[in-house]
Amino acid sequence: MIIKDRPTQLRVDLDALLNNYNKLNSLNIEKIGLAVVKADSYGLGAKVIARHLYENGVRHFATATLEEALELKDIIKDSMILVLGVINPLNVKYAVENNISLTCPSKEWLEDALLQIQGFDKKLKIHVKIDTGMGRIGASELEELEEINNLLASEKIDFEGIFSHYSNADGENDNYDNYQTENFERSIKVFTHKPKYIHIENSAGTVKYSDREDQYNLSRIGITLYGCYPSENIEKLDKIKLESVASLVSKVTHVKKFSKGQRLGYGISYEAEQDEYIATIPVGYADGILRRAQGFKIKVGSENCEIVGRVCMDQLMVRCSENIKVGDDVLIFGENNGQKISVDDFATYQDTISYEIFCCINKRVPRVYYKNKMEL
Ligand SMILES: *Cc1c(COP(=O)(O)O)cnc(C)c1O
Repeated sequence: MIIKDRPTQLRVDLDALLNNYNKLNSLNIEKIGLAVVKADSYGLGAKVIARHLYENGVRHFATATLEEALELKDIIKDSMILVLGVINPLNVKYAVENNISLTCPSKEWLEDALLQIQGFDKKLKIHVKIDTGMGRIGASELEELEEINNLLASEKIDFEGIFSHYSNADGENDNYDNYQTENFERSIKVFTHKPKYIHIENSAGTVKYSDREDQYNLSRIGITLYGCYPSENIEKLDKIKLESVASLVSKVTHVKKFSKGQRLGYGISYEAEQDEYIATIPVGYADGILRRAQGFKIKVGSENCEIVGRVCMDQLMVRCSENIKVGDDVLIFGENNGQKISVDDFATYQDTISYEIFCCINKRVPRVYYKNKMEL
């Protein structure tokens, strides 16, 4: 049998993930933490993550698409799975059959959806999306909200929730959140019935407004579950200590001695400044480590080693000391063997955010899960 020869792995610590969930969920005991597992749990693997959360009592989940929700429905039974995106009304019947909750983004959508389920016994579970200032999906005009309210009276509908989304909760001040909250409050009043769930908070809002007294009873938590703060502003609030969940690791596959002036890589963008050592790591942009990571320092053993030359599709090179050997451990981000590189530092260096770093890790990289420090 072929030996797995590529040491590059994305390690996911399920205990840290659950600890983060529990910490977030207890920030405000009035609110239920809904685990956002869209985009394959931000690239970390929704099936394993959703199962672990479910086995530990979590009963509220959200995905971006209906396909993502259907993939999870046998794993997380008797749970709410809310699809946050807009689905094709022609597919609404599959949501009804599978007890999946859908987002109503507009009056037109709701009319089209109702046409699709006329002969059905089971009800369509709806969360009405209000656009309070994100400008993405959702209704905002009073007239449209009133029309949606009228359509919700249909016996085919279970009006389960009403929600909105903060667009700047991770920002420096609350001004725009307050504007959105006011819009939300005004919109909620249009509805004759108060649904079971009213929600507006993402990770940033959940942490920031944990002490706020309001009528919201669900927090949609994504990135914090996966161990990252939405921004430095939220981290600085010092309300919660998140545990690192995801680590990208590899091993050195090749080491060579370089003399001063020797050049390397595509575009020969690096020239050895002195006699030095170069180590090659089997991870590249096809794995999601983009060319813009050039110059960032990763860990090889306990050394901080700069990525030199262009990142290739499948490999990259770092400058290291003579002590580095083939097989030595490499850490690109996360934690391993007492070494640590924050995902945020890695993201900031590349002018992006942790969300994008996780989502860019390609499927070629095996996801390896840990429970009680043991590989599953
Ligand atoms: C992705 C998403 C979330 C989760 O956001 P985080 O910042 O990762 O917590 C919550 N709500 C909606 C509507 C989303 O699309």
